[in-house]
Amino acid sequence: MNPCPICESTQSPRQLGKALLARDDCFDLVECGACRVRHLDPLPTRQQLAAFYAPRYYGSDWYKQLGRGMALARQELKRLPAGRFLDVGCGLGYFIEGIRRHSGWSVSGVEFSAEAVAHARGHLRLDVRQGELVECGLPPRSFDFIHVNNVLEHVRDPRGFLKECRRLLRPGGWFYLSVPNGVVDSRNLLEFERRRRRPGRSKDGHLFFFPGATMLELLDQAGFQVTRTYTYGIRRGLRILGLLPRGKKWQRDYESRPSVVEPGGTHRQVVLPAGRTRPDWYYLYRHQEARLKRLPGLRGYGLDFSIYSR
Ligand SMILES: [Zn+2]
Repeated sequence: MNPCPICESTQSPRQLGKALLARDDCFDLVECGACRVRHLDPLPTRQQLAAFYAPRYYGSDWYKQLGRGMALARQELKRLPAGRFLDVGCGLGYFIEGIRRHSGWSVSGVEFSAEAVAHARGHLRLDVRQGELVECGLPPRSFDFIHVNNVLEHVRDPRGFLKECRRLLRPGGWFYLSVPNGVVDSRNLLEFERRRRRPGRSKDGHLFFFPGATMLELLDQAGFQVTRTYTYGIRRGLRILGLLPRGKKWQRDYESRPSVVEPGGTHRQVVLPAGRTRPDWYYLYRHQEARLKRLPGLRGYGLDFSIYSR
């Protein structure tokens, strides 16, 4: 039996249910008795992941990403001396493009999807590396801010990923991690299976579901010092826990979908929808609003955690 990919415990994990990625890729959803991390078992292969992250996974919110990058640059990065910013899991690159346009920071990205990287390089002329972070061979201590927004739960080796982030961060630099609260995040998936008597789709391709305490331990083991933690997504968390009414259509997100591998390998290009133009103040306001709505600490009833470390 394989040891737990997070804590290496060799006790048999608890079987919670099943989960799908693409329609034909069915996995066990298990929970480690030692660290309580839930994950797909076995973990998907690189080919299964490449099929999941097809071009249509990207781009629907490109203009919002641009606005979010602008807001981060103008409201947070400007307080720090300009340096080098790395976004891991940067998608098409519009978030770092927003930072580049509105600050003196130099920006880089890493992205798994070859098509997304081609877009970031070709259309935005960004410095984006393709592949898994540990394979990119970026120089040690080369970034002043590393930003990892909803990515850790998608990678096959979260421990190796965090160690690599630590290696790439300059001493005194900032590491920002946002990650779903795994206990809440996996709940709908299991609830879907219980009600429908068939496995649901891990809707955004999450492979891991981390409890808050384990997350802090992992950061500690990777050599980070956690300075601030927050919980956000509180209303969504309360809905999933049944403490607020669930949306009527919540189950739709967990329905399996036809395989995302386009026949004959055609349409492997990112297609962007028309953007919606909104003034800068709208994104600056949304950024402030999100900061006000988060609560300090990692709270079990929220859907998402954000953690600042050094
Ligand atoms: Zn474990």
